[in-house]
Amino acid sequence: MLANGAVLHEVNSCQVCDVKCLDNAQYVEHCNGKKHRSKVAHALGQDVFYCDVCNIQCTSQDNLNAHLDGKKHMKVLKAHGFVNVMG
Ligand SMILES: [Zn+2]
Ligand SMILES: [Zn+2]
Repeated sequence: MLANGAVLHEVNSCQVCDVKCLDNAQYVEHCNGKKHRSKVAHALGQDVFYCDVCNIQCTSQDNLNAHLDGKKHMKVLKAHGFVNVMG
């Protein structure tokens, strides 16, 4: 219960991501986020072509494959230490 007597209820919680937001603005911001939209798409059974490493979304599997083979993606992988450079 808040100081003014209002009951704080969880209207600003995201059921999909199991995330609680402090206010509506934060909730809206969450809903516009890539993670949320990706989760919603998964929940709806839609295919999501998303690179978690680079935090980018691709429009198709081909697009994602091209990205995963790309220099930009490799650069990020190395930067995160995910790739052991051999030879
Ligand atoms: Zn969410
Ligand atoms: Zn990537």
